Amino acid sequence: MDQHRINVARSSMPEFEEYCEEIRDLWDSRFLTNMGSKHLRLEEELKRYLNTPNITLFTNGHLALENILTAMDLHGEIITSPFTFASTTHAIVRCGCTPVFCDINPVDYTIDASKIESLITEKTVAIVPIHVYGNLCDTDAIKAIAERHSLKVIYDAAHTFGVTKNGVSSANFGDAAMFSFHATKVFHTIEGGAVCYADDALKTKLNDLKNFGIHGPESVPDVGGNAKLNEFCAAMGLCNLRHLDGEIAKRKLVYEHYISLLSGIPGIQLNRVQPGVHSNYGYFPVVFDGYRYSRDHVYEILAAENILARKYFYPITTSFDCYRGVPGFDPASTPIARHIADHVLCLPLYADLSASDVEHICSLILS
Ligand SMILES: *Cc1c(COP(=O)(O)O)cnc(C)c1O
Repeated sequence: MDQHRINVARSSMPEFEEYCEEIRDLWDSRFLTNMGSKHLRLEEELKRYLNTPNITLFTNGHLALENILTAMDLHGEIITSPFTFASTTHAIVRCGCTPVFCDINPVDYTIDASKIESLITEKTVAIVPIHVYGNLCDTDAIKAIAERHSLKVIYDAAHTFGVTKNGVSSANFGDAAMFSFHATKVFHTIEGGAVCYADDALKTKLNDLKNFGIHGPESVPDVGGNAKLNEFCAAMGLCNLRHLDGEIAKRKLVYEHYISLLSGIPGIQLNRVQPGVHSNYGYFPVVFDGYRYSRDHVYEILAAENILARKYFYPITTSFDCYRGVPGFDPASTPIARHIADHVLCLPLYADLSASDVEHICSLILS
């Protein structure tokens, strides 16, 4: 790998010795997966960190989402937005439900709650909104709509690990919240994910579903898959969690440096932390709209200097080849999502990104 390349993200890692110390006892126990002691410890520590009553770990965030949709036994239409990672839309489709696409708002890029109710039909069973770039959805409005129409709310909270609004953890909005612990996320277990949920009764169901639907040696009540987090991944999570607050503090400094260098420039729209929100500074999206360079041109300028920014989220999921011609998958039905996707670029942001690298990136954009 080229030493001088700057990618959009760079995985946080503990010291090598710290990880080795954490995995040492696995050579004695030889208990490497199937909800071992590190898995159980990580669940307890995450419950505490996120201040949430129930958490179940998974192999990755995507399977966490598929399994919570399955556990809730949802069949019908699910309102969501297409300005997201492939995972959200695919999970709904793969679980046999029909996504119904709602547009986003142009300020924080989350679902436009004022447009949800007009999409509700007698077949609607749930809303799957996405918290985007550390911005939280309008959780109060969504809660009111869900209560009025008896709908479940499952948040894709992959971008908001550790984020709080007025002191409330992003794990605790809606009926459930999915987190991704992928290597590129603010908190990671190499690959991994979790779902947090309000209803205690879901715990057994989720634990069975992630282990082939097996409940006991001779009892298989569910058609489950395999989505267990192994002990090496859990160990990485235990180590990373110890350093997470420090990593977020360093990310904040990078974020503030970008803001100071790029704010007040016509045609450059920056993402501000929402009022009352404690962010995790996971991403630095910039919308180039009316700037002298297009988003794609800025991307090329940076790429020529070995700086790999990313067009998150482009294209929107309704534009994917696999959904071409499928009824209801019309990119034109969510014009704001399509517009933002065409103009947004996420700049590199990670804890150890140096001030001089931030200055270099900004000077290339502004030159
Ligand atoms: C990362 C991500 C996912 C998928 O998580 P994995 O752990 O990679 O399976 C889903 N939704 C969003 C918004 C994400 O960013």
